[in-house]
Amino acid sequence: MSVAKLPSRQSEITHEVIESVVHLTEQRDELTLLRSLQHSILEMLPEVQVAMVCLALDADRRWVNDTACPMPSPMFPINNVLMAEIVDLDPEKSIRQHEEDGQIYLMGSLGAQDERRKAIMIRQAEWNDADLRIAHGMLNIYANFARVLFDSERDTLTGLYNRKKLEQKLGELLAGRMRGHNRQRDNNTTDYLAVFDIDHFKRINDNHGHLMGDEVLLIFAGLVRNALRDVDWVFRYGGEEFVALVKGVPPGTISLILERVRVAVQDHAFPQVGQVTVSIGFTAIAEQTLPPYVFQEADKALYYAKEQGRNRVCDYSQLVASGELSRDEPLSGSVELF
Ligand code: GH3
Ligand code: MG
Ligand code: MG
Repeated sequence: MSVAKLPSRQSEITHEVIESVVHLTEQRDELTLLRSLQHSILEMLPEVQVAMVCLALDADRRWVNDTACPMPSPMFPINNVLMAEIVDLDPEKSIRQHEEDGQIYLMGSLGAQDERRKAIMIRQAEWNDADLRIAHGMLNIYANFARVLFDSERDTLTGLYNRKKLEQKLGELLAGRMRGHNRQRDNNTTDYLAVFDIDHFKRINDNHGHLMGDEVLLIFAGLVRNALRDVDWVFRYGGEEFVALVKGVPPGTISLILERVRVAVQDHAFPQVGQVTVSIGFTAIAEQTLPPYVFQEADKALYYAKEQGRNRVCDYSQLVASGELSRDEPLSGSVELF
């Protein structure tokens, strides 16, 4: 049996496509994935310009560029007409075409939530059929892969990042620190890990049923997410336990930030259930070298908060300094480490 040989340009394109798909699917992080997508598109279609955009609703309910959301720099400005097109993109539908000022834009959604839209636009004055097919293919591969990536790192109930992602992020943070990217020394801010555990959650399930318990988890996740900034990472660690990585905090502010979360939960009227409270323990991500130690410290502070009557925020280093906790005390309780 003879194997048909592809014409050389076609084989070159096939090779490029395979390479770029391999590279794309190696990525495990959204920003790196987007950069890789942009790189692949530009490699295959050198004449096009690419812009990836993240829009968010501001306090006046107007769509604006969301600078807190990390995106590769756009290769052309996004005017109001393009913004309106992005807001209207249907995340379930494939690529949309738009013509303006002698440019033909291909646009695809990179995800849509109530208050946020992410999109990619590729523009060129004229498109031939082959280039169009390549652009469509790239955007579709990305959309499919992004969905798999999204599913593998999120918790299905709350949509927050899952425990696996926490292990990855914390590992990266500590590895960066060991390589000398020491944020503390650079600008006098600190990264923290906080553990949140809903108080008497078992009672909520017992009194109102498991479905209502799930509803509380969902609302709770939203309250924590909204009380923190976009640069902070929030994870569902398991059951009714959540973790946050609170980044780049100036001295003396972490307690205020976490108090804000505690009060947001305490003051929220949960449907049927009424008041729900949360206990929070936190520690600075500083000297510890392994993720389990960071988690263990915050968890010890959390258990202290529970012992002291719940609905409070406790600082591991303060508890050690005041002699309430000893630094070497082995972890008691049932919490599993990574
Ligand atoms: P504490 O204030 O000491 O934290 O008390 P608690 O009742 O919250 O603590 P405990 O860890 O004993 O109970 C947690 C409960 O959370 C037990 C389990 O049934 C429930 N739970 C775990 N995961 C889920 C879930 O996904 N949905 C619902 N509805 N309940 C869950
Ligand atoms: Mg618990
Ligand atoms: Mg609990």
